[in-house]
Amino acid sequence: MSAISAHMRDAVLEMRGICKSFGGTRALDGAHIALHAGEVHALLGENGAGKSTLIKIMTGLYSADSGELLMDGKPVHIGSPADAQRHGVVAIYQEPLIFPDLTVAENIFMGHRDRGRLVNWRRLRRDARQVLGVLDVDLDPNAPASTLTVGEQQAVEIAKAMTQDVRVLIMDEPTAALSAHEVRRLFRQVEQLRANGVAVLFITHRLDEVFEISDRVSVFRDGHHISTRPVADTNQGLAVKEMVGRELGDFF
Ligand code: ADP
Ligand code: MG
Repeated sequence: MSAISAHMRDAVLEMRGICKSFGGTRALDGAHIALHAGEVHALLGENGAGKSTLIKIMTGLYSADSGELLMDGKPVHIGSPADAQRHGVVAIYQEPLIFPDLTVAENIFMGHRDRGRLVNWRRLRRDARQVLGVLDVDLDPNAPASTLTVGEQQAVEIAKAMTQDVRVLIMDEPTAALSAHEVRRLFRQVEQLRANGVAVLFITHRLDEVFEISDRVSVFRDGHHISTRPVADTNQGLAVKEMVGRELGDFF
């Protein structure tokens, strides 16, 4: 069997032939993508290419007009964010969803379904410390979340996803509001996720970040899938050309 067909079999999450229109606007037109365990997959495209729409379908916020979504090669229906969470598909946005009046540990374990009514605070703090340790994040589980920077809030969201057995973690422009130092820290966390077998989908406009962190790069344009390549088989010039649909030299 060829390396490629072996790889195809591994997709944790795959979307095929996805179409989605808003009134007369075709946001996605037969789009596809396949995400693999232990890989960081960058999704590139100009504004309006359909990236956020694809993610919203993946996480159950929108339903596709047509197309299919498979996990481990089997068709699944993700009709709501709760469905997505049950399948281990989690998105982290630029503005983390943090409860400022709760502690770090409480935020990490917020909304856990399997914890029962009696909260064992000592265990909760210990488990929080452990998952933060795996992510190499130096945060006090007892610290009030209101004291955290945006980067630290994202770390709490990533820690939360890890305690929920995340399989696909989607980051839509996660570095937009971060300092250079915080970007470095986020990248270390992404590397830990990859090492733990999570499929990471990473959206950014900063091409240097793409070539630093990703294993695979997909380009979308006008709701179409244009290409998917191993990062070693592409470069910034090619990616930009595919994003805009013509040679960059045509601009000048
Ligand atoms: P990207 O995230 O790549 O910038 P989007 O998925 O946000 O692209 O948008 C793709 C296209 O769909 C754009 O033309 C956008 O205006 C349109 N669109 C996205 N969401 C909506 C919506 N909720 N209502 C109407 N049009 C939308
Ligand atoms: Mg977007």
